[in-house]
Amino acid sequence: MDELSQEGKMAKGCLPEGLAGSPAHKETLRGAVPLSHFYLRQRVRPGDPVLDATCGNGQDTLLLAELVGEGGRVWAFDLQPRAVAATRELLEGAGRQGCVELIQAGHERLGEFVPAGLAAAVFNLGYLPGGGENSFITSPESTVCALEQAARLLRPGGIITVSLYTGHQGGPEEAKGVEGWGAALAPKQFNVWCSRQLNRSATAPYLVLVEKIG
Ligand code: SAH
Repeated sequence: MDELSQEGKMAKGCLPEGLAGSPAHKETLRGAVPLSHFYLRQRVRPGDPVLDATCGNGQDTLLLAELVGEGGRVWAFDLQPRAVAATRELLEGAGRQGCVELIQAGHERLGEFVPAGLAAAVFNLGYLPGGGENSFITSPESTVCALEQAARLLRPGGIITVSLYTGHQGGPEEAKGVEGWGAALAPKQFNVWCSRQLNRSATAPYLVLVEKIG
């Protein structure tokens, strides 16, 4: 075997599961949301209870519904009627609405609706694409309040993914709030990661990942 193909073989052998070209994984890791989906596919199993704290246009809710299947449960929140309607339409189009509870309310109230034992919680922050910068933007106070509740409701091994956007007004403050919250979590109870793309601009979306240990 020549040197190049040997190198190619080694590089492929080093790729984590899910990146080795399996047709089941069509998404590349081109941003925070695809990276969050990569982690969700690793951890969420059929029958699991999961949360989408900001359903927006419904893409994360749909992925969660597919992963948990009919025996699972997805609680999906959004303040905006338009977002809840868009998510409902997407789910119905895919025949995946059966396991999803759509809740038009602020995620700061999630503790009123969601029981303990979550396998995953997804936060995709900022504003609804196409919805205008000033309407229904997530805010540092309610985001951190919801994250606090989600962390309490996670089961051991459960994860929270937070996709953060700093390019809009209020974005940097919210990102700072989320990072401060994550940094303060007890290292014996939580693993907290921050993933940024080194070859993108400093304002590119990035991901905070939280895993509950015990
Ligand atoms: N920025 C992402 C999409 C984020 S959508 C992207 O580019 O793809 C964020 C959603 O959070 C919006 O639909 C908005 O209505 C919702 N939202 C804002 N504040 C909220 C709150 N307190 N509780 C629940 N949803 C909220």
